[in-house]
Amino acid sequence: MGGKERLQFVRSPLLERFSGLTHAFTTRSGGISCPPYDSLNLSARSGDTEFSVEKNRQILSDALSIKRNFFFLNQVHGDSIVVAEDAGSQRKSYSADAVITAKPELPLAILTADCLSILLFSADNRSIGAIHAGWRGTALNIVGQTVNRMISRFNINPAYIYAAMGPSIGPCCYEVDSTVYEQFHKSSSLWDEGSLNADRDGERRWMLDLAVINSLQLEEAGVDPEHISHTPYCTSCNENLFYSYRRDGISSGRQGSIIMLT
Ligand SMILES: [Zn+2]
Repeated sequence: MGGKERLQFVRSPLLERFSGLTHAFTTRSGGISCPPYDSLNLSARSGDTEFSVEKNRQILSDALSIKRNFFFLNQVHGDSIVVAEDAGSQRKSYSADAVITAKPELPLAILTADCLSILLFSADNRSIGAIHAGWRGTALNIVGQTVNRMISRFNINPAYIYAAMGPSIGPCCYEVDSTVYEQFHKSSSLWDEGSLNADRDGERRWMLDLAVINSLQLEEAGVDPEHISHTPYCTSCNENLFYSYRRDGISSGRQGSIIMLT
């Protein structure tokens, strides 16, 4: 693999319609990392070399014509939301799982390897957001909280928000146990619409669909269902395209979800 492969992105047809907006969901191809991080791993905390990760980030910036550092978060599966005012610095990172901004040329980045990423764009008072939502973030309704923060901070109408969900582990592969089910069920009545019962060997288990639940949470927050897009890819099923923590374990790299106003 390595650098011979070409860079390949997944894009949302909804967000692509807008000028003055750059976005991309990266795949694992087109970078320089060696196995098992091959090849466009963007996470410095995965066990990959710092050199490879920095080079991969540069390859990505160049391809998207991004001139400033990505604004990365120290993602902690919580519900803190950061308002980004300046480009990311290599030294400083915020422990949070969502970031919003109205500043142009400020690239927001979420790293995932199964969890759902959601990119938001408001066509009214142009502003953007990027969200990391695994089951814990979903149970905390981080996507709904982020929409509300954009409404209060940027004085926007959620009817003009467009949301693009990135590749994540699908209901085909995301089996969860009673512990997850019970914690989630306490927090949201939307669970039942986004999970399938999958009793296995006499034990109760559920197949979780993060995209369905987050879509419903977006709608609850006032986003038009026709303004929500979702990629068809399951990260665990598509090994050639995506990293998957559940499939690869601790040696998994991370793909990026990027959005920037230009
Ligand atoms: Zn799958």
